Amino acid sequence: PPRADDDLLAGLNPPQREAVTYRGPALLIVAGAGSGKTSVLTRRIASLLRSGEAWPSQILAITFTNKAAGEMRERVRQLIGDRAEGMWISTFHSACVRILRREAQQFGFTKAFTIYDSGDSRALIKRLVKEHQGDAFGLTPAGTQSRISKLKNELADAESYARQANMSDPVERVFVEIFSAYQRALQRANAFDFDDLIGQTVYLFRAFPHVADVYRRRFRHILVDEYQDTNHAQYALIHELTRPIGSDAGPIASSGGMMIFDADPADDPAKAPASLTVVGDSDQSIYAFRGADIRNISEFERDYPGAKVVLLEQNYRSTQNILSAANAVISNNFDRKEKRLWTDVGAGDPIIGFTGYSQHDEAQFVADEIEALRKGGVDYSQMAVFYRTNSQSRALEEIFIRSAIPYKIMGGTKFYERAEIKDAMAYLVAVANPADEMAVRRILNRPRRGIGDVTETAIARYAADEQITFRDALANASALGVGPKLQQAIAHLDAVLAEAREIMLPASGELAPPTAVAEGLTLLLNKSGYFDALRASRDPQDEARLENLDELIAVTREFARNNPEGTVVDFLTEVALVSDADDLEDASGSVSLMTLHTAKGLEYDAVFLTGVEEDLLPHRISAGEPGGPQEERRLFYVGITRARKRLYLSLAMTRAQFGEVSVAMPSRFLQEIPADLVDWRQSPGDVNSRGGMQSRALNARPRRPGQGRYGDDLVPKSSAIDKFPNRIPAKVRDNGDMELAPGDRIRHDDFGEGQVDAITGEGAKRVAHVRFEKVGAKKLLVKIAPITKL
Ligand code: ATP
Ligand code: MG
Repeated sequence: PPRADDDLLAGLNPPQREAVTYRGPALLIVAGAGSGKTSVLTRRIASLLRSGEAWPSQILAITFTNKAAGEMRERVRQLIGDRAEGMWISTFHSACVRILRREAQQFGFTKAFTIYDSGDSRALIKRLVKEHQGDAFGLTPAGTQSRISKLKNELADAESYARQANMSDPVERVFVEIFSAYQRALQRANAFDFDDLIGQTVYLFRAFPHVADVYRRRFRHILVDEYQDTNHAQYALIHELTRPIGSDAGPIASSGGMMIFDADPADDPAKAPASLTVVGDSDQSIYAFRGADIRNISEFERDYPGAKVVLLEQNYRSTQNILSAANAVISNNFDRKEKRLWTDVGAGDPIIGFTGYSQHDEAQFVADEIEALRKGGVDYSQMAVFYRTNSQSRALEEIFIRSAIPYKIMGGTKFYERAEIKDAMAYLVAVANPADEMAVRRILNRPRRGIGDVTETAIARYAADEQITFRDALANASALGVGPKLQQAIAHLDAVLAEAREIMLPASGELAPPTAVAEGLTLLLNKSGYFDALRASRDPQDEARLENLDELIAVTREFARNNPEGTVVDFLTEVALVSDADDLEDASGSVSLMTLHTAKGLEYDAVFLTGVEEDLLPHRISAGEPGGPQEERRLFYVGITRARKRLYLSLAMTRAQFGEVSVAMPSRFLQEIPADLVDWRQSPGDVNSRGGMQSRALNARPRRPGQGRYGDDLVPKSSAIDKFPNRIPAKVRDNGDMELAPGDRIRHDDFGEGQVDAITGEGAKRVAHVRFEKVGAKKLLVKIAPITKL
């Protein structure tokens, strides 16, 4: 065990020390945001390694994102040096992929299996819904996909679901048919979807106890960060790994939910289960929609009897003002264990609130403040802007580009969602995993080679008749019964795929060179005619597509540099597992933009939480979900607690979304923050005028009780919302059915005089396109804009 003077313990508070040094079968660290959970986990790993209690290969640490995994690995390396090599620090998904790559052949897959992302599985489900006439039963691809995903997270498959579903209901019957067809299709394609990665690993461990034992023997110390967001399948995976070695038969008896094993494993050191450490904060559970279950944390002590529990309450991240706001907000959730975060760094700056007239106005405020902070010495990389939904980033980006603020959107998946990138990846998959029919079908006619639906069907029929794969059918072009031109096109595609395979996965069994993926991809895009088709195009977008493909080739080169022995399968895995929080580029030197869900676990000196409005935060979809508003409050709490020193809460009075402009209301969560914590700044109204921040600060008015946005009866006596600038109600006014037509002249309270160019939309959503003399073109919602007709 570590010595008390160990430098790994330096600076830790007593419960943190205990969390690092405790030795026993199960340890639960529950604590609020920023209290050092992740840091403690990292030090615990370092301590196990340094004391010689564990080999690196005996450590399995699970983080929520690949980025977090990289950071943890780096921290451990800093603490103890090279001894850190060989640990498994990864996400659940990456760990399971590694296990499945080794073991897939045990149950009918090959190690070159494809990983279907949610777009891929949506495409497959869409086809199946169509084939089974699901729409006649009200089944949509999206709805079916999400139901299947939920069931898989509960470890249900089509058969087990069918056993307990009401199969006399025709809708249920069709759903089960689609579900089971989906499973068969995945199996045939040698593919796993995201949920399968976890679920099938659990299945593997349960079906093949000797395989499970290999990993139980190997991983003697299992540590899981962000445990509050594990779903049932992930829980079960950990449970399988922490059973006693050799517990083949599973539990021999079950009583009241408790597992009873035939012998106390503690009696037999050779069978002793791995030690398990989990850390989490039930107030930060924000993935219920993906099946996360807070009970995994609240019932930990029941599942692991004798577990040690450590509580951390001192926060080392944020100022007291930020923490007090966080505490006040989260205390509105019922059914939670009360905990109070505190810090000894002092109150710090007040939280700054801002109400923009529109989302552009809000974005301009954010941009101005970012510039002011930077002038004050805060680095761009120490600032982050959060929002509830991806679409909110657009307005921010527009202003940031105009203001020349470097920014980076966290969410690396976007690049890989582009059609041309998906095409290129499908070429690689068709080479690496020829059983993946979807990939082969995708590239069949991309670029166009005259292979239409009829030919595709002919190939599929031939494959079915001959009982060969769709890919193999391509090799028999002459037998397909299609015209000579088509035969030639198919034979050419077949040859290109075969040639690329020889480069990337040589039949000789020879090791492919590190550059094989880059070479293979270049060959595929050249010889397939894909590049030529884009080059010949006059569509300016195709220019960008070419650049994106060049970028992808650059990614394969970089992959080769980082993984000299990496194969095309490894490359495909890496890309498939790029998650929302993993950025492709280096984010240093730029402001980070991301959704609140992505922000989990991160911290920044200055945080801008934007769009704090009803229907956005809490999001309107949450209203109908049981526990929805509470989960939204946790999301808000996660956002607040990312900030170290400065926190900004902003909203807009009107917001254009999905082509509609609507009036926004301040979020109910704002009412939950004590008034004295927030310094509200007035909306400047006119984003183009010179006043800047200063005029805003001057406009800010001291709080006057009873002038809240909602009126006194609805507002708790001292809530932040009381201090809302009292100009808002005047501004959000009702012009009724003001008659406006192109050519009319109007005066706007902020923008001055202008002429109406056009009117679009109807009723309450009528929008006037106005050219103002001073500020140029603006779009105004006629019903509420502060305008008078001249
Ligand atoms: P979250 O709930 O957001 O995931 P967390 O509980 O994992 O937060 P950490 O990220 O580990 O918290 O720590 C928050 C910050 O506090 C980090 O910057 C970390 O370096 C710092 N920190 C943690 N413990 C201490 C300590 N004992 N002394 C000084 N700084 C600390
Ligand atoms: Mg953490």
